[in-house]
Amino acid sequence: MKTIEHWIAGKPTTGTSDRVGAVYNPATGEQQAEVLLGSVGDVESAIAAAQDAFPSWSQTSVSARTKIMFAFRELVNRHAAEIAELITDEHGKVLSDSLGEVQRGMEVIEFACGIPTLLKGDYSDQVSTNVDTYSFREPLGVVAGITPFNFPAMVPMWMFPVAIACGNTFVLKPSERVPSAAMRIAELWQEAGLPDGVFNVVNGDKVAVDTILDSPDVAAVSFVGSTPIAKYIHERGSANGKRVQALGGAKNHAVILPDANIDFAADHLAAAAFGSAGERCMAISAAVAVGSAGDLILEAVNERARAVQVGSGRVAGNEMGPVVTQAAQERIIGLIGTGEEQGATLTVDGRDLKVPGYENGFFVGPTVIDQVSTSMDVYREEIFGPVLSVVRSGSVEEAIALINANPYGNGTAIFTNSGEAARTFQRGVHVGMIGINVPVPVPMAFYSFGGWKNSLFGDKHVHGPEGVAFYTRAKVVTARWPHVDHASEASFHFPTAK
Ligand code: NAD
Repeated sequence: MKTIEHWIAGKPTTGTSDRVGAVYNPATGEQQAEVLLGSVGDVESAIAAAQDAFPSWSQTSVSARTKIMFAFRELVNRHAAEIAELITDEHGKVLSDSLGEVQRGMEVIEFACGIPTLLKGDYSDQVSTNVDTYSFREPLGVVAGITPFNFPAMVPMWMFPVAIACGNTFVLKPSERVPSAAMRIAELWQEAGLPDGVFNVVNGDKVAVDTILDSPDVAAVSFVGSTPIAKYIHERGSANGKRVQALGGAKNHAVILPDANIDFAADHLAAAAFGSAGERCMAISAAVAVGSAGDLILEAVNERARAVQVGSGRVAGNEMGPVVTQAAQERIIGLIGTGEEQGATLTVDGRDLKVPGYENGFFVGPTVIDQVSTSMDVYREEIFGPVLSVVRSGSVEEAIALINANPYGNGTAIFTNSGEAARTFQRGVHVGMIGINVPVPVPMAFYSFGGWKNSLFGDKHVHGPEGVAFYTRAKVVTARWPHVDHASEASFHFPTAK
């Protein structure tokens, strides 16, 4: 069986750990590889490699760094289909979706190609007589990324293109369930001319993560994953004096107003709820139907849910693949059951779906649950599967209050033809990313991505301008070049401008 190793100091390595994790093909249910679960020593080697590479990389001119970014972008573009296949085989999502993820990740590389402009400082002439002030930003040192299973390429790419372009060196700890894309990306970095040690991948689990969090040689940690782990990462990393941005889970609502185009809303709701089998942090998992929109949207979404083409992500034409593991499949099926037990109505039930030829795959069919209340488990839990709950609401104000009472605040959307309602909504919701007739409002790379409340711990969102700020720190210089004939004008009082 294939063994997936680590990538440290520019080469694959087996490290020292004797622990391994199983990597499955979720469409067939078969184990296809084992991944090394890094030891404390393996992570320390990766951090040491990154530390060794930092002095030279951080001193490499911004122009030279940019050339490597452009070369890397070209290589990722050329190998996009290959990376997408690695993702589909380990995650299960359909190939077109995997390609979409690579494309969205590549947009962050393109953003980072603009690093000469992004790192430009400020200059103020003559702030005091013969005194100028200017500012610039410097990289932090070794920074780490810890990433989830659901976007094996895009989420790491939210982090390392910006971090590396800023002059940092990077240690990535990908999800142990989907490790192959990161290893291929490491090879592409090398081919692009990135010096060895600037980008390292250490595979593993909690042992690897805790070693990163406790290492005095790691300056900052970016995390994306579930809320309990995000909170833990933020607390432990911060307690150890690191900069931490930790993005957590989500419960994303889409509000449908009676004036919305119901067919348009239903098409987009179905794609947002069932695309990637609902395993997206920006998936819509709760439809909040206002007034008379309720029965209409339910009927239209039911129709679409029944029509979704479910099967192996490798088979062209399929729209939705399996979920990632058998444990995820069992958990999702169990949660759907609690919906029924707690009084909701299952209008489309995907629990018994069998895909011919893939009987052992981890499939769950699209599921719609109506008459869901906020006290039910299907509403309170992040299901992370192809399950859409429909909650009825009396008004847009009531819908906003419902969203704001939810502990998560990642994304939300509204379907309406009323500019006034949309504006009330965008100003009223306590959520980081908002879509108006756009169900999955993932910001482009030149904006920053991040949620509110339990969807993000820390104060900086990822990529975009906040990403550059996160991976750098500022210096402000106040300078004077005295002429020999100038009076010194030194004073014992606190300096003030003249
Ligand atoms: P997860 O929290 O289980 O794992 C994320 C990372 O943390 C992995 O690298 C994993 O190895 C590590 N980890 C897991 N348990 C740990 C522990 N006890 N101690 C230390 N490290 C640990 O998340 P997942 O199941 O891989 O991904 C799905 C979750 O990620 C969902 O909750 C989803 O909403 C969230 N997510 C959020 C965003 C966002 O932008 N907010 C984006 C993608 C995914």
